[in-house]
Amino acid sequence: MGFVRLLPRSSSRAQNAVVADELDVAMSDVEPVPADEPYALEEELPVLELPVALDAPPPVEMPTAPLPAPTPVFVPQAPMPGTTGTRVIALANQKGGVAKTTTTLNLGVAFKEMGYRVLLVDLDPQGNLTMSQGLNPDTIETSMFDVLVRKIPISDVIERREVDLAVASIDLAGAELALAALIGRERSLEKALVEVRDQYDFILIDTPPSLGLLTINAFVAATGVIVPVQCEYLALRGLVQLENTLAMVRENLNPRVGVEGIVPTMYDGRTLHAREAVEILEENFGDLVFKTRIRKTVRYAEAPVKGSSVLGYDPTGPAAEAYRELAKEVLHGAEAREHA
Ligand code: ADP
Ligand code: MG
Repeated sequence: MGFVRLLPRSSSRAQNAVVADELDVAMSDVEPVPADEPYALEEELPVLELPVALDAPPPVEMPTAPLPAPTPVFVPQAPMPGTTGTRVIALANQKGGVAKTTTTLNLGVAFKEMGYRVLLVDLDPQGNLTMSQGLNPDTIETSMFDVLVRKIPISDVIERREVDLAVASIDLAGAELALAALIGRERSLEKALVEVRDQYDFILIDTPPSLGLLTINAFVAATGVIVPVQCEYLALRGLVQLENTLAMVRENLNPRVGVEGIVPTMYDGRTLHAREAVEILEENFGDLVFKTRIRKTVRYAEAPVKGSSVLGYDPTGPAAEAYRELAKEVLHGAEAREHA
């Protein structure tokens, strides 16, 4: 092996000092190492061997498992626990801005209008759901972070607003990291919900735009997943990855969880693009696509500024009506599957 030993400059000084000692010469007589010479070669060997070529990028780990066939992507969920038990629904899509938070709130308020007992859980460190009920995540002291990581009772962080809401704070951004070190890290939310589960008919969980540990916690706690999808071509791309993550959760942590349905959001029926995007969704996912289209309207952006759902802000408008329709579909979808 022809490795060249590279000595840092300080070692070369030390060596010089030893030599100087031996020869009984004052250090000042030793020729100083030139300032522009960073290393001293102990011996001269022509070839410099390094384990990795310096100009080559580090090797990238490629996934070895083949991707699943694109159609159908989602495995319909196993029989639901039924209308008697609490339904815990995670609203998930790793893409941001697809109306996860908007759907969590408005679907939740629609269920409440129908007489159901509803809890919303804000699991997104951005705290948009918390904000949309007029609360400030920056000033909240105890939140879902403390529930997941410090194991305080979830009832301590539930605020009673239009619907009950377990709040997020800015701390939640550190939850993924803090959870990673805990045993049972994927089951933290599931365990926390045991305390209040019987008090609600629906628990809707708003998740961050990622498939990290917070979203996994939601999948493990959930009886089903609803995926809001923006009506555009590219929106379809992330769904395979979402289903892969769900498949992993089914295999290891929660065998019953699956996609209950896909909600086309921000639909603009005047554009061919939106209509085609929905057609593609239906071709690929069939009955899993809800019939309700959530149309594009500024009402959904206006309502949270008032700390309200669209059902509270503009109760008789079409935007509110759309989420009431979706709520009915979510209810009936479950019944239809039970009787299938
Ligand atoms: P996510 O939680 O997936 O990031 P949000 O629910 O926060 O998405 O929605 C992103 C933005 O789009 C928000 O400003 C919201 O008010 C707006 N929005 C949501 N749904 C609609 C809709 N149907 N039409 C128009 N704007 C919408
Ligand atoms: Mg959101």
